[in-house]
Amino acid sequence: MKEYRVTVEQLGKIKDMENTEKPIKCCLCGEDIAVTPTGWRYGNNPQPLTDNDEDRCCDLCNSTKVIPKRIEGMFASKNKNIE
Ligand SMILES: [Zn+2]
Repeated sequence: MKEYRVTVEQLGKIKDMENTEKPIKCCLCGEDIAVTPTGWRYGNNPQPLTDNDEDRCCDLCNSTKVIPKRIEGMFASKNKNIE
């Protein structure tokens, strides 16, 4: 019977592979999305600025474009209710 134990060394190699993966591009400005200290490299969800579920955006675009758009959308739907 074969053993499928993963050593600490092997785990380290898997981590290195993850770190050398190509950075994800921001779909709004085209810049590479920075990896956070916790290892999160997928940035933010750019909806409603895109319809593509796979699109991701950087922190800068998230705070300067996505969040204002969401707030705008909130106000727009509020106004609709008043009419
Ligand atoms: Zn961006």
